[in-house]
Amino acid sequence: MNNFSYTKVSTLADAIHEIDGDIRNKIVAGGTNINDLLRYFITKADKLVDINPVSEYNSIVRLENGGIRLGALHTNADTAYDPIVEERYPLLSKAILAGASAQIRNMATNGGNLMQRTRCYYFYDIHTPCNKRDLGSGCSAINGYNRIHAVVGQSENCIAVFPSDMCVALAALQATVNISGPNGERTLPFADFHRLPGDTPNIDNNLIHGEIITSIDLPEKGFEKNYSYLKLRDRSSYAFALVSVATGLDIQNNVVKEARIALGGVAHKPWRVLEAEDFLIGKEPVRENFAKAADLILKGAQGYEHNSFKIELAKRAVIRNCMMALNPEVQRPGAKPSV
Ligand SMILES: Cc1cc2nc3c(=O)[nH]c(=O)nc-3n(C[C@H](O)[C@H](O)[C@H](O)COP(=O)(O)OP(=O)(O)OC[C@H]3O[C@@H](n4cnc5c(N)ncnc54)[C@H](O)[C@@H]3O)c2cc1C
Ligand code: SF4
Repeated sequence: MNNFSYTKVSTLADAIHEIDGDIRNKIVAGGTNINDLLRYFITKADKLVDINPVSEYNSIVRLENGGIRLGALHTNADTAYDPIVEERYPLLSKAILAGASAQIRNMATNGGNLMQRTRCYYFYDIHTPCNKRDLGSGCSAINGYNRIHAVVGQSENCIAVFPSDMCVALAALQATVNISGPNGERTLPFADFHRLPGDTPNIDNNLIHGEIITSIDLPEKGFEKNYSYLKLRDRSSYAFALVSVATGLDIQNNVVKEARIALGGVAHKPWRVLEAEDFLIGKEPVRENFAKAADLILKGAQGYEHNSFKIELAKRAVIRNCMMALNPEVQRPGAKPSV
């Protein structure tokens, strides 16, 4: 770990001023990812700017358009257990609670969750080539051990996946990210926030250094009647997803009016294929149709030596999760499992 200064700020203006658009100045929120990145020499900082005291962005507020605004500094735990989120956006609540551990969720913030970096083993091992850490050095995963890596959207420069659970639900819910920086405020649709690796795998998302995520907006529609989040992983807790799926369905008179299906663990960003969602519109919500949608979502998928199993796993996960979305009450946060 290199030497750095540490400063706490209590206003957004001070945070933007202290970061000053300088890549050597870094924000710290919950600290659950940035501390590891510093400790393992994956990133360096001259100055850490602790934004936790900026209380304005540590709450959940109702919006006039019927949606809600999640403060970037609200913790993952407080977000998942918020009564409005549990009632109207249980898909988000369930996805957050599938991630990490209770202790980490108590510290991790919503803004930090969007910004967390990949869990590719080589990214964290500074003795191996990695284009994400050191652009131009090569990708150790493509011909290495690549069990947890991407099967869609990858490039010859990087096959890492984005590890978040929360963001898979946010993608399905079509959230919007609110950003402030030296040049003012802007918003990004969630689908445009994270990037595919292409030839710049060192850039995870479209936030410009010096900008700060202030909040995340959810539209009114929460799919609380028919939703499901399924996370498949090597251990039943405290493990990142091999494949995860967030599904929200709007079903009327046994016909799908709207479908949202986002996948985690398979790509460099939460993966949605609009063609698959459109295919389901006007169809009966039955296994056969979900299977066709799953084929569309994984169309063109390419596996590597150790992760080809993910393609079939992802298809089965989509089908199973869509079926689970037909009977969501058993998954509602706090619901007792049926016997
Ligand atoms: C052991 C372990 C297991 C985990 N398992 C899972 C899991 O299963 N599923 C899952 O989804 N996640 C998991 N996580 C990741 C965890 O969810 C993230 O580390 C956490 O969400 C990051 O939030 P933070 O507030 O701690 O971010 P920090 O560590 O404080 O910051 C992370 C990055 O975000 C930047 N940043 C923070 N806030 C902002 C902001 N408002 N605007 C702009 N930039 C900002 C920081 O500069 C830094 O670059 C796990 C983490 C650990 C350590
Ligand atoms: S997959 Fe990406 S993060 Fe992993 S070694 Fe290759 S370039 Fe680095």
